[in-house]
Amino acid sequence: MTRKKWMMMAVMMCALLIGACGKKTDTTPSHKTVKVTQKSELPKGVKANDWNLILVNSEHKLKQELDFKQKIDGNVIVNSKIESALNDFVSAANKAGYKASLVSGYRSISYQKEVYADSIKSYENSGKSVAEAKQLTKEYVAEPGSSEHHTGLAVDMMSSNWYAKHNDLDNSSETDKGQKWLINHAVNYGFILRFPKDKEKSTKIDYETWHFRYVGKSNAKYIVKHHLSLEEYIDLLNKAGKN
Ligand SMILES: [Zn+2]
Repeated sequence: MTRKKWMMMAVMMCALLIGACGKKTDTTPSHKTVKVTQKSELPKGVKANDWNLILVNSEHKLKQELDFKQKIDGNVIVNSKIESALNDFVSAANKAGYKASLVSGYRSISYQKEVYADSIKSYENSGKSVAEAKQLTKEYVAEPGSSEHHTGLAVDMMSSNWYAKHNDLDNSSETDKGQKWLINHAVNYGFILRFPKDKEKSTKIDYETWHFRYVGKSNAKYIVKHHLSLEEYIDLLNKAGKN
């Protein structure tokens, strides 16, 4: 492998592990309207602007850091409000025979700015033009302010068994029994798989088997039951006047 190729590989790996969670999907925006469900079917007392439903994506960027109590869980930081739910989720996986590794949690906007700038620099150092370096970075690394990791409500979690072998965040983990367990049981602990395979047009993010987002149990149940993305669910709540 040439030095140049090796450098590119290193950049890609680095981006994957620290900032790439949120690779933009290469699809045009969906114009499919979500069927508006009866208001009565929506979970009681839920509002689109509840703390656990905060929407952060490329169209809803955070302009400043969020202020919340941080808690260290394993080797990652999360919002203290989700600590017990996350512990329950991880313990249940353990009990079922699947150890789970928390790979990434809260990331500040300022940290993401560093990751973003480092990525551009690395691409430039590997011989890319400034424009190419910026384009590649935009494709693989979440823009500062647009990552759900800024909220402390999202974690990248992998089946330890799979992660020990591959040391990577990759969709091929979907065949791993432990990862399947995490994906199928997240809802019981108030989490959703945030970027499902068939919701790329709505989330504008490629399928990710590892990115779990806390939304609370009743919201998670509704989202999973009605097969919605978080964007679609919030849209429903807003249309129902629950905001
Ligand atoms: Zn993530």
